[in-house]
Amino acid sequence: MRTGTLGVNLSGLLPIIRKNLYTHSDVFLRELIANGVDACQKLLRVSQQDNLQVPPDSLKVEIIAYPARRQIVIRDNGVGMTEEEIENFLTVIAASSAREFTEKYKETDIIGFFGMGFYSAFMVADKVEVLTQSYKAGSPGLLWVSEGSENYTLQEAERPEGRGTTVTLYLNKEYEEYAQIWKVRQIAEKYARFLPIPILVEGSSINQKPLWREHPSTLQEADYQKFYRLLYPGEEEPAFSIHLNMDYPISLQGILYFPHLRPEAVLSPNALSLYVKGMFITDQLGEILPEYLRLLYGVIESADVPLNVSRSQLQVDPTVRKIGQYISRKVVEKLKEVLDKDRARYERLWEHVGPFVKYGIVRDEDFAKRAKEICLVETIDHKFLTLSEYEANLSVSKSPKGYLVGFYVNDLQKQGALAALFQAKNYTVIKADTVIDPYWLSYLEKEGKIRFVRVDSEEASSWLGETSSKGGLTLEEEKQIKEALERLTQLKVERCELSARGPAALIVRDEVGRRYQEILMKGEKVPPSRLLFNSQHPLYKRYLLTQDKRWLEHAWDWARLLSGELQEGDLRKFLERDWELLSGA
Ligand code: ADP
Ligand code: MG
Repeated sequence: MRTGTLGVNLSGLLPIIRKNLYTHSDVFLRELIANGVDACQKLLRVSQQDNLQVPPDSLKVEIIAYPARRQIVIRDNGVGMTEEEIENFLTVIAASSAREFTEKYKETDIIGFFGMGFYSAFMVADKVEVLTQSYKAGSPGLLWVSEGSENYTLQEAERPEGRGTTVTLYLNKEYEEYAQIWKVRQIAEKYARFLPIPILVEGSSINQKPLWREHPSTLQEADYQKFYRLLYPGEEEPAFSIHLNMDYPISLQGILYFPHLRPEAVLSPNALSLYVKGMFITDQLGEILPEYLRLLYGVIESADVPLNVSRSQLQVDPTVRKIGQYISRKVVEKLKEVLDKDRARYERLWEHVGPFVKYGIVRDEDFAKRAKEICLVETIDHKFLTLSEYEANLSVSKSPKGYLVGFYVNDLQKQGALAALFQAKNYTVIKADTVIDPYWLSYLEKEGKIRFVRVDSEEASSWLGETSSKGGLTLEEEKQIKEALERLTQLKVERCELSARGPAALIVRDEVGRRYQEILMKGEKVPPSRLLFNSQHPLYKRYLLTQDKRWLEHAWDWARLLSGELQEGDLRKFLERDWELLSGA
């Protein structure tokens, strides 16, 4: 047997690290700012221990861009580095002082941990200079220069500002954009504006207070609204916000916003950002969040998210995956709180919150168990009922087979006239008019307790019929009308008995088949399955008497009018005919 040591050809490896370490070249700035912030945090820490005089508000990280020279400078007045530290940490890839520091000072706010961040500078720069001077007494200024190969130079050089570190990047031509001040400001604001040390871009601070870290009891609704405007300038106010604040079993803080859901609203699917230690990590939370929460806006932060070198690894991290579950649990809890404490407010919110909740219930069994009690249904006269209140209402429409029948409309304008007939019989009719509703109703039917039927379905119409037939027509007359209507409409026609005030005829659709088709065809129109004519309606007596076919055409138009299918031209004809028939023309 032979043992050996893997040889590493560094000059071959460096370009690979450089190109593949991070997916966005932007992150070099995040990493260098993070190093500056770490250096300041470290100085704060050691100054307490070593009794140094460092006013906390004197610390800062500055970013200056020089477009003409194609340079960008990141400068801090933190701990700086000694020669030994440069040799041990800066010049050894994947060496970091963080572990040592954390152990010695029990410090938890240091961002860096892997000793890779600094090298991201070579993603965009051909040459990097580090001018540094350690806070340690008598330390000289040092200038380290590298062109990204395994060679570097290190020499003493004066640092005019004294203690701290200045990193100068000589940008590659391809990346000269990073010497533009607007670009630098944009990236710095995106990644670093919630960091705890002042970050100055061209002299002005970009820092903002991370509101999610404050205690919820100290905040007002207006604070959340203001913070929303900071995060999403120019966007419409959110409908509702939730402050997450938990330490156990995982550390998770954040503010979630439910956007106003309007048909015309364009929602961004990546509006929720993840922060770790105040630093922006990603808004591509993809797999991390359950689907139904991906349209939420806001920020979350967790100290338990590992700052992996590759942020794309977040997706497979078990802690990160748990975050999704906790968030969804918290969302239900908070909504329940509002429902219990302020029902009127919850009813107003439901329009915006409901679709998320319904979607979650349809997609996630676990969520469904918890979320059912925060669901509302809206009746056509704008009353809101919880599911249990609704079920109680349904006791009047219990079918002989034992299930409850729930009547609904999905287009109040078209089905409103019919719906009113149901209401007049004291049946509750609910609205189910959003895209998610067909799925949601099917889900609620799964337990077998309720069956939903749209007011214009065959099954629904049987609930309108009188039970004892008064039989206004003879069998022969009935047959005559039926056949004539079938010729006219090309539909299967059947007699039904509505009260004398009911409409002349109804178009009905097969409930199960229609709903299934609607889901498949995504809202396309499903043809009617048959026509029911109300034998109690006086119109048919007139027909039999006069044999004037216009009466039947009139009945057919009535049915189409009720289901919103009468087009403009037909409507005019209908009105003219109405006039003629009634005036005996
Ligand atoms: P990490 O931040 O994960 O430790 P980096 O590659 O970003 O890894 O940095 C490596 C080390 O170089 C740091 O741990 C720190 O000791 C040192 N260093 C980098 N930038 C600075 C700075 N601006 N001031 C002081 N030390 C720094
Ligand atoms: Mg770092």
